[in-house]
Amino acid sequence: MALQVTVWNENVHEREEPSVAERYPDGIHGAVADALDERGFETRTATLDEDEHGLTEPVLAETDVLVWWSHCANGEVSDAVASRVVDRVHEGMGFVPLHSGKNSKPFKRLMGTTCNIKYRHGGETERVWVADPGHPIADGLPESFEIPATEMYGEPYDVPEPDRTVFISWFEGGEVFRSGLCYRRGRGRIFAFRPGHEEYPIFYQDEVQQVIGNAVEWAAPTEGSDAVWGEVEPANREG
Ligand code: ZN
Repeated sequence: MALQVTVWNENVHEREEPSVAERYPDGIHGAVADALDERGFETRTATLDEDEHGLTEPVLAETDVLVWWSHCANGEVSDAVASRVVDRVHEGMGFVPLHSGKNSKPFKRLMGTTCNIKYRHGGETERVWVADPGHPIADGLPESFEIPATEMYGEPYDVPEPDRTVFISWFEGGEVFRSGLCYRRGRGRIFAFRPGHEEYPIFYQDEVQQVIGNAVEWAAPTEGSDAVWGEVEPANREG
């Protein structure tokens, strides 16, 4: 069965700023979901305005990987829904926060740090370098690719040391940033991907869509074995 992907978006800039609405007529969630659909994933979308932000227990229970874009409305996500997302990650759901989704309640709780960065608007060029060429999230990508205009994010990035750093970005102004980071929390896999500022058509770019598709496959839950918790009899019995 195809992987079940939910693409979540706060969907605020698209409704409040005409230039963003023009760029993403179906919302950033629509653009990302279409790209994943084309890659054969079973995709649905959910937004802040929906009841329980569209992330009800049944929706999350059916979701293999949650892709998340948010920015100005991070504080409007209810604590209950944020906790539900975190719990599902611990149970094994994949989580792929995009760009400023790094400031979302679920990601910050999963990291346990501020996730602070430095940033600059103004449409600088970004060159995204593959730092871990053997990693499945780098499948099909060139050694590096360019995003012609974007918002800059710069180090230091206040997150825990990742398990793998798949991408590192360089910006025209001279800053660098760890732009593709892998984590495990409980049974869940997390991939934080930097590109995707709403003022530019970044989610239509082939390489960016390729990364998100690869990340969904990588972050999908795996069977593993059942955990046993609490007080137990000795595993090795005497005699
Ligand atoms: Zn941005």
